Amino acid sequence: MTCALRPPAGAIILTGFMGTGKSAAAELLSRRWGLRSVDTDAIIEEQVGTSIAEVFATRGEQYFRDLETEVLTQLAGQRGLIGMGPIICLHASAETIMQRTADSDERPLLNGPDAATEIRRLLAEREEAYQQADYHILTDELTPEQVTDAVEDAVSGDSRGCRLAPEPVEIAVELGDDSYTIHIGKGLLEAVGEIAAPDQRGQRAAVITDDNLEELYASAVAESLERAGWDAHLFVVSSGEGSKTLATAGQLCEQLAEAGFDRSSVVFAVGGGMVGDLAGFVAAVFMRGLEFVQVPTTLLAQVDASVGGKVAVDLPRAKNLVGAFHQPRAVIVDIETLSTLSDSQFQSGLAEVIKHAAIADAQMFGYLEQRLEQVMARDRVSLKYLLARNCQIKAEVVAADPLEQGQRAVLNFGHTIGHALERAAPQWQLSHGEAIAVGMVAESEVAVEKKLSEPDVVERLRRLVTQAGLQPDLSGIDPQQAWTAMSADKKLRGGRLRLPVVPRIGQVILTDQIQLTDLREAIERLLH
Ligand code: NAD
Repeated sequence: MTCALRPPAGAIILTGFMGTGKSAAAELLSRRWGLRSVDTDAIIEEQVGTSIAEVFATRGEQYFRDLETEVLTQLAGQRGLIGMGPIICLHASAETIMQRTADSDERPLLNGPDAATEIRRLLAEREEAYQQADYHILTDELTPEQVTDAVEDAVSGDSRGCRLAPEPVEIAVELGDDSYTIHIGKGLLEAVGEIAAPDQRGQRAAVITDDNLEELYASAVAESLERAGWDAHLFVVSSGEGSKTLATAGQLCEQLAEAGFDRSSVVFAVGGGMVGDLAGFVAAVFMRGLEFVQVPTTLLAQVDASVGGKVAVDLPRAKNLVGAFHQPRAVIVDIETLSTLSDSQFQSGLAEVIKHAAIADAQMFGYLEQRLEQVMARDRVSLKYLLARNCQIKAEVVAADPLEQGQRAVLNFGHTIGHALERAAPQWQLSHGEAIAVGMVAESEVAVEKKLSEPDVVERLRRLVTQAGLQPDLSGIDPQQAWTAMSADKKLRGGRLRLPVVPRIGQVILTDQIQLTDLREAIERLLH
């Protein structure tokens, strides 16, 4: 990452727990930008003539905190700390902090028998204070140079459009007149009215959801819209893929017409990918197109389906056969909705997270390898990082190819074999995520045979999807049916096969060096 930047006026304040990388980043930043780096611990040590550990041991934490406040007040002067410049909080997990501070005897807070528990307690205690920072950077997987790059990105507004500000994270999807922002944070359902467009007095909002989510989330969205001056109406369909049909779309259009919706009305899709696709389709066709806002509530919808403007309904013969490209006006992701998602739905969404990491971000892949347990426990800081990074990756690919005419095909990594298995499997046997997980590994095996991928791509993918619980039972799937399903794939018909392949983790290419027959053999190997 290169940065042609001038240092910001004033100061940059790095804060965060010990072991998060503040000193190293401050040192590098001061060298890059010729700024003076000031370490409050060093000033205190100089003033009292002894080490911080000694201060803690002899005078206690409160004494140290008072000294710290004094030093900060001197540095900040009249303006106060907040007025000095951007405050950037560096974060790391308790495990990383343990590793990074293991050799240090300067750990006055962590000398007890169970340092990890103590770190977690202190992190929780300080979270609210840390959240006041302007920008947040997760440093677990970053080298000091990368942390410094990220700090530069943050203070420069980041050319890729991701501001890791506390709440909400905002990611720009650059599509000219169709550009929009993805908002990611906690408690955002209650703020949909203001985020979507403040002061829409009297404007009609159709909140479309499914019957599992009406009480759980959609009514909170409708209330938030009402509070912001909208005239909100709830429309509820049955949950499940069975509702993603022309018939349901037709009924919704009838209901909208009946209730007097017009071209100035806006559709809000509150739910998983099914609701997003269906409500987006209705928004695309009702009165030749209404604006719509995605409020995704499953992991799959948050990292994938809600971004990119692909909306559709299914026909009995195939999924997503009738649809359109219709970009949302905004995507609003409330992380807290993931707390009610079933484990199997969460795992299914993780497959797309793993896919994005595999094709575009080796660092995120490494993060998943090391922190999967934490992610699966739905740790909020990890989720925020993953959601932001995933949406950023999807946004970049979509911006480069909004109508899926070329490069966007990289998002289909694992999907050619995955979709074939999904279609051929008896109902309920295979989740979308499980199918994609098998597809990524199987397609990569073929790529390794063709010397297009490094062997460790297969090993690392297999290990990670297994850890994520994405190892389905494939018995009972007929290879012939899977092959027939693959031949009927609308992406493959009539053209050359341009398959996304991961040469090494974090990179992707589209290749025509793999033939359908190679994939057929791979399917037969899987289902023998
Ligand atoms: P889904 O929308 O059917 O949701 C799955 C289940 O989870 C439903 O029963 C739903 O009521 C429930 N649910 C949703 N959010 C919940 C929450 N927070 N807590 C508890 N329960 C919750 O399924 P999905 O996996 O989100 O989406 C699958 C659909 O997405 C498919 O139709 C697929 O074609 C589509 N899709 C579209 C795109 C795109 O680019 N448009 C991309 C990928 C997938």
